Amino acid sequence: MNNNAIKPWLRSYDAALEAFIKTDVLVCGYGGAGASAALEARRAGADVVVLERSSGGGGSTQMSSCEMYLGGSGGTALQQEIGLSDSTENMSAYLTEALGEHGDPERIRLYTEGAASHFEWVESLGVPYKRKAIFDRVVVPHTDESLLFTGNERAWPFTEVAEPIPRGHVPSHEGDQGGRIFMKALMEACVAAGVRVQVDSQVQAVVQDDSGRVRGVMAKIDGKERFIEATRGVVLSTGGFVMNRKMLEKHCAHTLPFGEPYGNQWDMGDGIQMGMAAGGNIINMDQCFISMAFYPPASLTYGILINNKGQRYINEDAYLARLGHYSGQQDKAEIYMLVQNEDFDLPYYLSPPPPLAATGDSIEEVEREAGLPEGALQATVDYYNKYAAQGQDPLFHKAKDWLKPLTNGPFALISFKPEDVKYPLGNDNGWLMFTLGGLETRPTGEVLTPSGQAIPGLYAAGRTTAGLPRTSKGYASGMSVGDATFFGRMAGRQAAANT
Ligand SMILES: Cc1cc2nc3c(=O)[nH]c(=O)nc-3n(C[C@H](O)[C@H](O)[C@H](O)COP(=O)(O)OP(=O)(O)OC[C@H]3O[C@@H](n4cnc5c(N)ncnc54)[C@H](O)[C@@H]3O)c2cc1C
Repeated sequence: MNNNAIKPWLRSYDAALEAFIKTDVLVCGYGGAGASAALEARRAGADVVVLERSSGGGGSTQMSSCEMYLGGSGGTALQQEIGLSDSTENMSAYLTEALGEHGDPERIRLYTEGAASHFEWVESLGVPYKRKAIFDRVVVPHTDESLLFTGNERAWPFTEVAEPIPRGHVPSHEGDQGGRIFMKALMEACVAAGVRVQVDSQVQAVVQDDSGRVRGVMAKIDGKERFIEATRGVVLSTGGFVMNRKMLEKHCAHTLPFGEPYGNQWDMGDGIQMGMAAGGNIINMDQCFISMAFYPPASLTYGILINNKGQRYINEDAYLARLGHYSGQQDKAEIYMLVQNEDFDLPYYLSPPPPLAATGDSIEEVEREAGLPEGALQATVDYYNKYAAQGQDPLFHKAKDWLKPLTNGPFALISFKPEDVKYPLGNDNGWLMFTLGGLETRPTGEVLTPSGQAIPGLYAAGRTTAGLPRTSKGYASGMSVGDATFFGRMAGRQAAANT
């Protein structure tokens, strides 16, 4: 493009920017939470501007599989049409157990009551969902099914409190493209509704008047600092802080020895820091999603996970985030999977594949080669085998379907130590993680001060907040995008109503 061609384009760009100076609702960040907030605020009649730091938007939501954890109310349309029903009480019982002491009962209530109609909203954007489920032990379908188990529903102790129902809803496609399909549809709906989007625009600070009411933001747009006025409210939806090393060191130091950041490069905690500077409180900051994934292949679930003392520490049929939570608590996070020949396989998504710490025709040989305390692994396997033969697991209650005595050698001990786990998309070795702490908000998005007062005109959603998912221990895939979009919509509506 020559200079003559650039100049008229620049003039119209500047003119467009002037029109951006004032709006009703200003949304910071154009990922799942931000775009959902923007669309709902616009549909509620507000003039809406979105400022997005990257050159295109989408955020981590676009990188994701876009599994959303949905159900309740008798079942989503998808659950019902394949013959499954899911009551709100059943979903609530599951989430209450899953989130435990970290859970927010009001968020759980709103979410379980509204999740089925949230699915209708997502489908109404044109996102394709096939009426077909996959019940295998997979993390993401690579065929075109749209419904799967994405949490611990079929594992102890959850089977004691709730009927297992698959709630992971994923756009129908072959390959892992859910986030792109969803964000394309959502961003197109935003533009069609008249949301004005300005990319390459980094929001830097929230601006308040003398009374503390939020009046807008300062943002760097096209290299220039600008004030953007928001008459009704500002929504902070800039994602979490897993890419901010200093914040991780301060709040999540315990995860650093084994965690590998998983997200987009602008997961820098900007919204959390701007919200704090405006008087907002932060909570749950030490909690992260941690994925210790050994499946697929599902056949490894017949094996046993052990620590460096040769002891089991969890039921191996748990979801990868629960495995991550408990694996991270083991000494030096030194974790191995013991498996017998007929079940041996390696995860295809780790590159290079995790190494074998030991092999042997007997458990004793494996134990010696791995340098485990003498007799420890043999005692573990003897005990496990005795009860597995009877279809029982008295220590950790692995489901009967996955119990099989480990008697048919040769045996392999696969290392899942963080330094031996390498994902093609990661920079370093480790178990994938993203943050689950952030601004304290009401479910409707109002950012709260440490004394519980709402900051007038300031809202937040998604991983900028401590939302629905607050612990890896009970995390299910789909809780984060489900939460970001569900409560993002609420924040947008609340901001639009703040006239
Ligand atoms: C590969 C991958 C797969 C995943 N799969 C799933 C899944 O299937 N289901 C699930 O529930 N969760 C999944 N997750 C997690 C989930 O995607 C995220 O936690 C969630 O999408 C976060 O949504 P958000 O709206 O809060 O943030 P984002 O979608 O990341 O949006 C934040 C936006 O804010 C922008 N931004 C940042 N700073 C600024 C600033 N200062 N000014 C302006 N803009 C700014 C960013 O560029 C970004 O576009 C996955 C994550 C990854 C990385």
